Amino acid sequence: MRVKSLPKLCIALGFTEPNQLVQQACIEAEAGETFLEFRLDYLKQPGAGVETNREFLRDHPECVILATCRRRQNQGRFNGSIDEQIGLLEAAAEAGAKAIDLEIESAERAHLAAATLCGTASLVVSYHNFEGTPPLEGVLRRMLRCPADVYKIATTARKPSDISRLLALPKSHPKVRIVVLAMGEIGFPCRVLSPSHGGLFTYAAPSAAEGTAPGQVSAHVLRRLYRVGKLSKASKVYGVIADPVAHSISPAVHNRAFQARRIDAVYLPFLVPSLHLKDFMTLAADLPVAGFSVTIPHKQRVMRYLDAVDPLARRIGAVNTVWRKAGRWRGMNADAEAVVIPLSRHLRLAKSSVLLAGNGGAARSAAFALADAGAKLSIVGRSPDRVRALARACGAEPLLRDQIPKLHFDALVHATSLGMFPHTEECFFEGSIPAEVVFDMVYNPAETLLLRRAKEQRKTLVPGLQMFLEQAVRQFETWTGETAPRAVMEKAAREALGGA
Ligand code: NAP
Repeated sequence: MRVKSLPKLCIALGFTEPNQLVQQACIEAEAGETFLEFRLDYLKQPGAGVETNREFLRDHPECVILATCRRRQNQGRFNGSIDEQIGLLEAAAEAGAKAIDLEIESAERAHLAAATLCGTASLVVSYHNFEGTPPLEGVLRRMLRCPADVYKIATTARKPSDISRLLALPKSHPKVRIVVLAMGEIGFPCRVLSPSHGGLFTYAAPSAAEGTAPGQVSAHVLRRLYRVGKLSKASKVYGVIADPVAHSISPAVHNRAFQARRIDAVYLPFLVPSLHLKDFMTLAADLPVAGFSVTIPHKQRVMRYLDAVDPLARRIGAVNTVWRKAGRWRGMNADAEAVVIPLSRHLRLAKSSVLLAGNGGAARSAAFALADAGAKLSIVGRSPDRVRALARACGAEPLLRDQIPKLHFDALVHATSLGMFPHTEECFFEGSIPAEVVFDMVYNPAETLLLRRAKEQRKTLVPGLQMFLEQAVRQFETWTGETAPRAVMEKAAREALGGA
């Protein structure tokens, strides 16, 4: 029996044993999922999957099963012939699968049999490309020669604009029922956005088990964090660009903030390798992206693609927040203010001496912000030449490491990557910490070795999470014009870092 409409999210279940398959299918169904892909080719004996269909549907008649039995030649695991493949899919349809997936390679070689399959269940003809994303109109033309109810195109995203090319396909073919997916980490945003851009459905990995394709995440994450199923074409798209991006806690923080304020928007992790920054700007214009956070390695280079950059960010030479207003890209540096605000809760910067440790991107933001706030600033780091250059640029005093034990400051701002996960046992200061207020920019882990030592020495602590939250709050308010839900954002950040 064919189905007119399909749910927006399909859980891909690939298991070697039928009992594991049924068990996981039941877990998903009990969690409220109603669309499940049974990968018969993953089973040691694919034929056993047919009875499994029947058994599962007896208890869960509300569910729709998509049966797939992809051949080994086409990146599946089934070793049989095309006739055997089609025979199994027919049997699965008779056992209650309302949709069946047949890859284009088999559909082309067994045209007639495939056409017959079309009458038994909703036929999804699928195209997979594990190498890249070729010109898509040609792919679709090839597929449309095979009769089917749904056409699935899953390619590998090699650069960000592959996402917008895939998402454009359903819109330019409104009469064809299309599923588009970009595999791999670069393609992840496509998995979230395809149903709201006219794609029929997207795929998710099962909860607490591996998915069947690169880049799949669980239905729980897609629904709860990214609101798949609730997003529409009108939902605004935000995100963070970085390489690597998987560790970023920003999606957890900003999505929860949007949800708390009932803002119809989603915040996505965009993996953008250095070479693809310009290409990301093409994607950002096409989607369109309404605003984004910028982190390593793009904070400096992104400035060349912006129409207007705030003067402080221009002096710092780095932007971490971008948004679009009246069609123009604007940039600012929210890190600078995020250093000053938490410190100002403990001392008057205009009357304070501050030691800044580090001379990288974050240190640069702190140096200009602290100098602007009137602090008497000294800078130390492991590379004296770089320390001198930064000190000269912001009117600070450069120091050598061996001068530090003889000195004392009102505050220390630590801005090197020492102590950051996974190198949590590293620390810039071995003995006595030469300041009363100790601010560590590192926020993963939430309590660094430097902060632990500072606590033992009875110093006032400023954890890096406070800075992270200040800049996230500033970004949220710049993008939405609304007051940020600080407590929600802090809770989300702590949870994402694995703490309480
Ligand atoms: P970055 O541009 O790569 O700079 C890293 C800095 O650390 C450089 O000064 C580098 O010195 C120094 N460094 C690295 N290894 C060192 C070592 N073994 N000994 C001494 N110094 C060392 O990175 P960034 O963007 O400035 O980030 C620095 C830290 O701040 C990271 O942990 C980051 O997560 C954190 N951060 C936190 C926030 C927040 O919101 N809390 C915001 C931004 C950054 P050289 O120049 O000599 O290599």
